[in-house]
Amino acid sequence: MRVAIIGAGFSGLIFSKYLLKSNIDVDLFEEHKFVGMPEHCTGIVSSLTERLIGDEAEKNRLSQYNGLNISGTKEKVYLSTRDPVIKLNRKKLEEDLLYSFIKNGGRDYLSTKVDEISDLSRNRYDAIIIADGVNGFLHKMVGLGFKGRIVYGINQEFCIRSLEDHFTVKFDRVTSNNFFSWYVPLKDKVILGTGVENQRELMSTQYRLKKLYNIDKKEYKTYGGLIISGVNKSLIRKNNIFVIGDAAGMNKPLTGGGLYPNALSAYLTYVLIKKGFNLLESLESSIKFTLALLFKSNHLSIALQRNPEIVDELIDIIKKSGLINDINRNIDYDFHFDIIYKSIRSRNSHKFLYNFFKKDPIKFFKLSKSLIKDIT
Ligand SMILES: Cc1cc2nc3c(=O)[nH]c(=O)nc-3n(C[C@H](O)[C@H](O)[C@H](O)COP(=O)(O)OP(=O)(O)OC[C@H]3O[C@@H](n4cnc5c(N)ncnc54)[C@H](O)[C@@H]3O)c2cc1C
Repeated sequence: MRVAIIGAGFSGLIFSKYLLKSNIDVDLFEEHKFVGMPEHCTGIVSSLTERLIGDEAEKNRLSQYNGLNISGTKEKVYLSTRDPVIKLNRKKLEEDLLYSFIKNGGRDYLSTKVDEISDLSRNRYDAIIIADGVNGFLHKMVGLGFKGRIVYGINQEFCIRSLEDHFTVKFDRVTSNNFFSWYVPLKDKVILGTGVENQRELMSTQYRLKKLYNIDKKEYKTYGGLIISGVNKSLIRKNNIFVIGDAAGMNKPLTGGGLYPNALSAYLTYVLIKKGFNLLESLESSIKFTLALLFKSNHLSIALQRNPEIVDELIDIIKKSGLINDINRNIDYDFHFDIIYKSIRSRNSHKFLYNFFKKDPIKFFKLSKSLIKDIT
């Protein structure tokens, strides 16, 4: 069995790893001379995702946090997670994944741009996997992949020592625009980032974010890119051609995180092949399963990004109803639906829902509507 993967970003690399592990020959094509470039990602994942990625992730752990601050326009809450949240060195992670791939017998074709799928046909691949990212033209050319909502994301790094030891995500209209902003303290630096729906607002929003955290130093590094938010039920397979990664909208709808869904899907493909399913069935089932999982928190995510006041209400009521005690240390950073599911099923949820309804029926109905859309 032989597979071609086009694009050596995170998704192409993690699928390469698990397909090689399934004893499948993999040819990996990448238009750039190096992997991990251009840098765009913050690199925050759960411990589960770190385990799914494997040794390459563990080696590239830059920091870890026992939870996160979630902030609305006024309210703030600290939630501790079941397992630590990890900040990875993203560039080095991709370099190490490529290194392992070559060491384990994979064939890499760096500096090789694939202009058309038919370029590969002479090699008669059993499957062709397009992992060309959200900007890639190849998946669009074959009529596959993501067509939904994108936001513009930016990260800036500052050489300052933070007094905070938690990272913060903030939903408001000042430091982001229909998305959220983030503050990530590391040993000797801080990463500030935000997402905006309107590209023209990117720098002014980032400026306000700097002001909020009282950072008057000049950044030493800026990077970013398009973030996928709001997955759609897109076509991911045509005959033996598949699309994965950002190109397929395999991203958590709330944060745009792509590492968890792709690591999960690659791992599931490996498990299915090991259980005796054929390659094409395994790829299709694991990608579709992952997309269905992401879809479960789709509407809720967009409702929270667009209505940060709902986040305030939720935080306030989570604290007052005692729900915080139920969800603390009981949630996984990457598994968003789990947080919602656990909250609804927890013993304090009736108090929470009743208080919320009493306090603001309109916001309550807005939230319920998106939850119902997600659950049904
Ligand atoms: C600001 C920002 C912050 C983020 N933070 C996080 C985070 O904290 N946690 C998280 O999980 N995710 C995060 N993400 C999302 C994550 O970075 C992406 O989901 C992930 O990198 C997507 O990987 P990919 O392989 O699908 O696409 P890409 O990384 O875009 O890779 C596509 C690759 O394909 C190559 N390519 C394209 N066309 C061709 C062609 N025709 N021939 C050959 N090669 C080709 C490109 O050169 C590129 O290397 C963030 C994204 C942004 C923008």
